[in-house]
Parts: sequence; C-alpha cells; structure tokens
Amino acid sequence: MSKKTPMREQPPDVRKKNFDEVALGYTLEEAVSEAQRCLQCPTHPCVSGCPVGIDIPGFIRELRNGRLEESYRILKSYNNLPAVCGRVCPQEVQCESRCVVGKMKDSEPVAIGRLERFVADWAAENLEEKVEESAGQRKEKVAIVGSGPAGLTAAADLAKMGYSVDVFEALHKPGGVLVYGIPEFRLPKKIVEREVNYIEKLGVKIFLNTVIGKTVKVKDLLEEYDAIFIGTGAGTPKFMGIPGTNLNGVYSANEFLTRVNLMKAYLFPDYDTPIRVGRRVAVIGAGNTAMDAARSALRLGAEKVYIVYRRTGKEMPARREEYHHALEEGIEFLWLTLPVRYLGDANGNVEAMECVKMELKGVDKSGRPKPVPVEGSNFVLEVDMVIEAIGQGPNRVLLSEFPGLELNERGYIKAEKDTGATSVRSVFAGGDIVTGAATVIEAMGAGKRAAQFIHSYLSGEWDPWQK
Ligand SMILES: Cc1cc2nc3c(=O)[nH]c(=O)nc-3n(C[C@H](O)[C@H](O)[C@H](O)COP(=O)(O)OP(=O)(O)OC[C@H]3O[C@@H](n4cnc5c(N)ncnc54)[C@H](O)[C@@H]3O)c2cc1C
Ligand code: SF4
Repeated sequence: MSKKTPMREQPPDVRKKNFDEVALGYTLEEAVSEAQRCLQCPTHPCVSGCPVGIDIPGFIRELRNGRLEESYRILKSYNNLPAVCGRVCPQEVQCESRCVVGKMKDSEPVAIGRLERFVADWAAENLEEKVEESAGQRKEKVAIVGSGPAGLTAAADLAKMGYSVDVFEALHKPGGVLVYGIPEFRLPKKIVEREVNYIEKLGVKIFLNTVIGKTVKVKDLLEEYDAIFIGTGAGTPKFMGIPGTNLNGVYSANEFLTRVNLMKAYLFPDYDTPIRVGRRVAVIGAGNTAMDAARSALRLGAEKVYIVYRRTGKEMPARREEYHHALEEGIEFLWLTLPVRYLGDANGNVEAMECVKMELKGVDKSGRPKPVPVEGSNFVLEVDMVIEAIGQGPNRVLLSEFPGLELNERGYIKAEKDTGATSVRSVFAGGDIVTGAATVIEAMGAGKRAAQFIHSYLSGEWDPWQK
C-alpha cells in the first residue's frame, strides 16, 4: 500500500571512490511526510522491538507536529546515542519489524531509524545542548571498562543518576566498534565524537590509553570503586586457520578496518598508518564486518572485490541495507563457497585461493542450514588480498586477570541477563563481552539495564550476591 519515503544517497559510481557518508538523510519535509505514515498505535508494538524501549510514537508525533526539540528530548531520554542508532541499527529486525504499517499488504514499515537520525541531526545543527551535570552528587564511584556502546550507555545513565563515573578505554579514542570498526561512509566519526562529548558533559570522565588488567590492575579497580561495569566487547579476531594464512596480504577484518577507520589509513600519507590494498580482493564472511571491509577495499582502489560466503544470501547476517549498497557498488557475491587454502608466490605474497563449493543439508548446532562441501567442486580464484571476517572472540586481557570472574563455555562473561550481575560482588557486565558479537542497540540495552541494577545495588535495595 505505502512505501517508505526514500532517502537521498550518493550515487554508487561517485560514492565508491570516496569515504563520505553514503546516505544523506531526510529533509524536514521528507521527515514530516514519513512521520505522517505512523498510525500512533495505542499498543505501539514497535517499542517492544527496541532494546532501549524508545517512545517511538511519542517522538514521531512531536516531529510531525513540527515540535522538533520536544521530539529530540523524548529520543534522548531513552537513548544516549540516537544519531548513531538511527544510522547503524538493524531496524528491519528490531523496531521496524514490529511496525503495524509494515504488516499491511504491499506496505513498508514506518522508517523509524531514518526519523531518529533526522531528529538527532537536526538537534546537532539547531540546538544548544543543555546538559545538567549531575554526576558526583552521590558519594559512590563507578568504574566502566570499555567505551563502546555498552560502556558509554551505562556511564551516561549512571552520571544522570548522580554517580561519579570513570570510563577506562584501552585505545586512544572512545567509541569501541563505532570508531574502530564501522567506516566513515556509514557512520561519520564526528557524529560519534559529538555524542561522546555529550556524555562527557554529563560529568563522565574518560581515561584513554588505559588497558585494565595491564595499565591499571583489576585489584586496584575493585578497591577504589563501589561498582564496576565491564563492556570490553568481542574485539579479538578469529582466523579460519587454513594453509597459507601467514602469507602477505591476508588480513583479519579487525586489523584492516582498524587501520582504515581508527588510524585513517585511507588518508595516507596525511596520516601515518599505511594500508596495502590489492587489485583483486576476497573478503571471507557475510556479516556487517565483511560488508564494511569489502566496501572499504573498493574505496581504496581495488578493481574487483568478492564476498565469499559458505551459506546463501538468505542466511547472511549483514544488514539488508548494507548488502544492497555493496551490490550497487559492484561487489560480487560468491555464495555457497568456502576457501580451503591460500596460495602464495615466491615472495610470500598471496596470489590465489582454492575454494570448494558448498550445499546446504539439514541444520547445524545453531539451528541454521548446515553447509557441507560438494566433493570435486574445488576451484581457484585469483586474488592478491584476502580479508577474513568470520567472527570475533572476547577480549581476554582483563578476563584472565579477574579473580573469580566466571566465563561461559565460549569464553564470554557469565552475567545475569536482566541485571548484568556477574559472579563477582559489585561487578556487572554487558554488551558483546557477555553475548558475543551482537548489535549496537543490544549492547546499549545491556548497559542501560546494568545501570539500573547498579543503582539498586548501590542504594541497598537489592543484592544478588547475598546468600
Ligand atoms: C565492522 C563492524 C561493523 C558492525 N556494524 C554494525 C551495525 O551496522 N549495526 C549494529 O547494530 N552493530 C554492528 N556491529 C556490532 C556492534 O558494533 C557491536 O555489537 C557493539 O559495538 C558492541 O558494543 P560493546 O560496547 O559491547 O563493545 P565494543 O564496541 O567492542 O567496545 C568495547 C571497548 O572496550 C575496549 N576494551 C577492551 N578491553 C579493554 C581493557 N582491558 N581495558 C580497557 N578497555 C578495553 C575496546 O578497546 C573497545 O573500545 C558491527 C561490528 C563490527 C566489528
Ligand atoms: S507500530 Fe508503526 S505505526 Fe504503530 S506506532 Fe509504531 S511506528 Fe507508528
């Protein structure tokens, strides 16, 4: 029946040569027209699809009445990073998947993410941010380890409740995956900086270049703070471990994206960090990380970029929008394909990879269709760069240093789902370090819930460690 108001974008031929943001956002007229598609359902099922429970009909109502400041206040009261979420949340499986308008015949859901982005961007341009610093009004101190979406959300909410909050971050910039993983063309870094600045204005102190477990000992943290939240993410790359992995030109997506995004290697030599990009690049995997790596390689001048995935497009975990953008930019998808070894030249540089075709048979342990090799289907693909994006594991530095902290069988922290409480008294955890690689908004949801329960614990209302 009705479709989403389209959002303007850079044309594929132009954008594949630059790192500027692809999606250009709505104009006010477009935003209001999209907001008018919302039915203002009294049951608002969209809200139950949002891990931080934004009052979606509320902010849309204010927007369509032209009350943009009120709309922004509603958004910001639930979500500390709306300009980020409006851009990177997989809305198609969250709020928008529940939208009533999307359930009607031939109709698309209300573009909740685009509207959230519009309001947050409007506020950045038009509002003098009024922040009331409340941090420090209470005597208790909370330490947050990691400045990704989980840590930043917990920090902001606790500061609003009056706690003194110190965030410790291993890298030289705050933001976690938002700064080192997701590229500029999807999430401009000035937007992350702006939202982090707001959190600092609440009174949160961020200590950079501080690896907890090394620079600062866990013991000292436990002594100095009344509660700790661990949000260290899942930033350790996994490798397939097939022959040839050590050849020059084989990267983890983590290294490749960190060089490109955090160290701005795409601006080399203006920035010091170099990046070597091949002519023909294969990216292994089909999640958001793989799409980001493939599209970055293209922008750095690769002539041909393949995404190589052992299942099909149906099982691919990437956001649909990123997949479509990658397709439009000319990335080629090799479905049902698994690399079995990398082949090198006499100088130790990768020059090709041998792959086998797969078929889907039955289901695996995770309940997804199980890919199995088709005998005799091996073939060789000529490539001079390979980026493995097959998943990430937990950051271990802190975990190995933490006495009594229980981990699950996959090496992630065991924490209560609803509260974030871990096995160690006064220590909470949330985000990817508990769930494994997930999404920005889920990490934020975990940070928000933990902040609530840290407050209940420090107020003496609740104590899960009392036996
Ligand atoms: C390339 C890529 C693209 C993605 N795209 C999307 C997307 O489009 N949409 C989406 O919803 N999700 C996406 N994700 C997933 C999403 O980014 C993560 O789920 C989310 O960032 C997890 O947040 P977090 O706070 O748990 O951890 P992180 O963002 O990983 O942050 C953890 C922080 O902790 C720091 N740290 C680790 N150990 C220590 C220590 N010992 N001491 C101090 N600091 C430490 C790290 O340096 C890091 O800054 C993507 C992930 C990647 C890798
Ligand atoms: S479900 Fe859709 S139409 Fe209903 S309130 Fe939410 S956004 Fe509006």
